[in-house]
Amino acid sequence: MAPRSADKSTALLIDGTLTDGGGGTFATINPATQDPLGTAADGDATDMDRAVAAARTAFDESDWPRDTSLRVHCLRQLRDALNTEIEMLRAITVAEVGAPITLTYGGQLQIPVDDLEFPARTAEKYSWETDLGVCAPLGIASRRTVVREPYGVVGAITPWNFPHQINLAKIGPAMAAGNTVVLKPAPDTPWCAAELGRIVAEKTDIPPGVLNIVTSSDHRVGAQLASDPRVDLVSFTGSTVTGSAVMTAAAQSVKKVLLELGGKSAFIVLDDADLQTVCAKAAVAVARHAGQGCAFTSRLLVPRDRYRDAVAAAAAAMQEVVVGDPADPTTVCGPVISARQRDRIAGFLRLALDEGGVFACGGGRPAHLPRGFYIEPTVIGGLTNDARVAREEIFGPVLTVLAHDGDAEAVRIANDSPYGLSGTVYGGEVRAGWVASRLRVGTVNVNGGIWYSADMPFGGYKQSGLGREMGLAGFEEYLQTKAIATTVR
Ligand code: NAD
Repeated sequence: MAPRSADKSTALLIDGTLTDGGGGTFATINPATQDPLGTAADGDATDMDRAVAAARTAFDESDWPRDTSLRVHCLRQLRDALNTEIEMLRAITVAEVGAPITLTYGGQLQIPVDDLEFPARTAEKYSWETDLGVCAPLGIASRRTVVREPYGVVGAITPWNFPHQINLAKIGPAMAAGNTVVLKPAPDTPWCAAELGRIVAEKTDIPPGVLNIVTSSDHRVGAQLASDPRVDLVSFTGSTVTGSAVMTAAAQSVKKVLLELGGKSAFIVLDDADLQTVCAKAAVAVARHAGQGCAFTSRLLVPRDRYRDAVAAAAAAMQEVVVGDPADPTTVCGPVISARQRDRIAGFLRLALDEGGVFACGGGRPAHLPRGFYIEPTVIGGLTNDARVAREEIFGPVLTVLAHDGDAEAVRIANDSPYGLSGTVYGGEVRAGWVASRLRVGTVNVNGGIWYSADMPFGGYKQSGLGREMGLAGFEEYLQTKAIATTVR
């Protein structure tokens, strides 16, 4: 099912045309085998310049910003076109991202494709103008109208871990709101974005310049997009360090930034929860997709007097996790994306030991997988929340178990983090609700509730980000507000 080695190459999409990159091509690697899959067009500074110019012209000179019915039609057409090629997209998502195939039936592919309906429907039903009636400020009778309008050119910069979800959750609402877009995907997963570009060019009525896609091996091409004064808004998902650099670059031309950044989220078990079952859930939750989810709960907070039982339950479940070929439907934990990420995670595992931690399971490479960027699902015990492995984002299948002394202390430990992306709490409904209300995070799962859906806002507090993606709040992030007053005679 996966594409054969080196038999595929992809293009940039600039001004409606599929084109080669000025930098030639670069290899895309299968993280499960370390073999090259093929190549992608390597966009350079000139390509990015042309893409921004095309998006600017499409915004300033076409009807796209004002023609809501065209935009709604194009988004639904794109959703249907992606669905006609869903098996090809599934194959490249497994091969290029290393995502377990089961996830492509959900959040890795199918759900975000189908969720394009949400921004389309929102735009269709949206109140673009609100009449505030007549009043006479300073004695001048005035009819007041508040109008919502698109920002202009949106620069979208995305990471590799959930490429379709993140690409589509940016371009869907940005385009539905009437903006034009330049998408710069991560160098590790160019095909997921490039195939989107091909499908846009070949199978939709999206006008030239409205969506441009520049794959590149060079992070500086992303930095160029963030600083270009012709771009009005930058929507970035990635690490907090890069997000901060994007914010600095955007500040030079005072453009709006939306940031979806890192996390170190807590999974809190209260003393009236079913500890064994819940700790097993926590372990499997962080092993999915090799722990490469920004909102995954990588700190497990358990009652101190049940600490040993909790570590044992988490480790027992973690040892049952199937690690291996992402194309195998029984696999839960595939490879991490790259040698760089594998080595970074291995560095954190060494650090855990240096800090006095103990591996209840894992801690190395899976012995049965000599090739591929694999890490053993790992449970770390014996540390406090001051340890670096409890504070820093590891982005691997690694769970750190910490002790708490009651509900209030669990909240304090959970909030004692530079991040504030997500959280989970299990316990009696009233107490769990009390904890949820005090977590300084953007999304909370109470007793297994699912917060992810097209109509729910997603985003972070503190250093996990600025603004919201998805839901009505995510749509409105891409809108300006204009107040118009007309004298009444
Ligand atoms: P990254 O920050 O290294 O890169 C993200 C993107 O930014 C890539 O496209 C990269 O080419 C580009 N980039 C790099 N330097 C840049 C610069 N100076 N200016 C502009 N663009 C630049 O992140 P990553 O390693 O690709 O992804 C993993 C990170 O993403 C993790 O920290 C994870 O938590 C975060 N993430 C957050 C969310 C969320 O919604 N909060 C979702 C997924 C991933």
